[in-house]
Amino acid sequence: MRIDLHTHSAASDGTDTPGDLVRAAAAAGLDVVALTDHDAMSGWAEAGRAADEVGITLVPGLEISTRLGHRGVHLLGYLPDPAYPPLVAALDRILAGRTERTPAIVAALRGHGIDITEDDVRREAGGSVAAGRPHVADALVRMGVARDRTEAFDDLLNPGRPGYANRYATPLEEMIGLVVAAGGVTVIAHPWGRSGRSVLDEAALARLKDLGLAGIEVDHQDHSPAERAELRGIARDLDLVVTGSSDHHGLGKVDHDLGVHTTDPEQYERLVSLASRPT
Ligand code: AMP
Ligand code: ZN
Ligand code: FE
Ligand code: FE
Repeated sequence: MRIDLHTHSAASDGTDTPGDLVRAAAAAGLDVVALTDHDAMSGWAEAGRAADEVGITLVPGLEISTRLGHRGVHLLGYLPDPAYPPLVAALDRILAGRTERTPAIVAALRGHGIDITEDDVRREAGGSVAAGRPHVADALVRMGVARDRTEAFDDLLNPGRPGYANRYATPLEEMIGLVVAAGGVTVIAHPWGRSGRSVLDEAALARLKDLGLAGIEVDHQDHSPAERAELRGIARDLDLVVTGSSDHHGLGKVDHDLGVHTTDPEQYERLVSLASRPT
């Protein structure tokens, strides 16, 4: 059983349609794939139909923009009721923050002498409901300002760079409660990835487990082998589920091929058993 529990489609900032993503997952030899678009569940239906066609299991999920203090934390939520009103309202607020941020980024870039417009970004975002910096990056690449997304982030879009703008994110503790109340389970994505390990030490993870956190994503490209070993130890101490996943974004992110990391079947079974909705 090969299981990949973190992927993005063009419903957020991946480059494959949800259906193409699921077909690519089957072609890559995966038996189970979770679709975890940023702050959005709009790809689930199409992905589900494709999964039925190719005979693999789709786990409906999402990767939610949260914050712990002032640090951004990505929270994977699996199997929540997509109609649970408090969750829908919280996600709508995040999506509105994304939409409102784009003009701020465009204005900052224009102030930096780059002739980009909101329309340029909207065109790249296409069918995405979660407007993001990757779409700005794609517009910059098309204009010849950057070679690829990575260069656009490094030069212009990361914190401290001229085109950076912040946006709203839900407090992590609150979002864990919302996903659990919606019948789902939560896993912290790449806890020691870009945002650094300082805020998510063992004591913080213990506190989050008490609030209902089910697991942590250990095997991820943003973690070194030493960090993975240490996180595995923490998960063992705290009895948290351990996952491993690709964080695939289609052509939008290099070295994140489907199945580059996978989740142990026993860990997957345990995770799913903690949800109050059947798969
Ligand atoms: P946003 O959610 O709009 O703030 O943008 C963050 C998204 O950009 C995340 O999905 C990251 O995976 C993606 N991202 C961040 N840095 C890079 C990079 N260097 N290359 C490609 N994608 C990136
Ligand atoms: Zn992304
Ligand atoms: Fe993430
Ligand atoms: Fe992701």
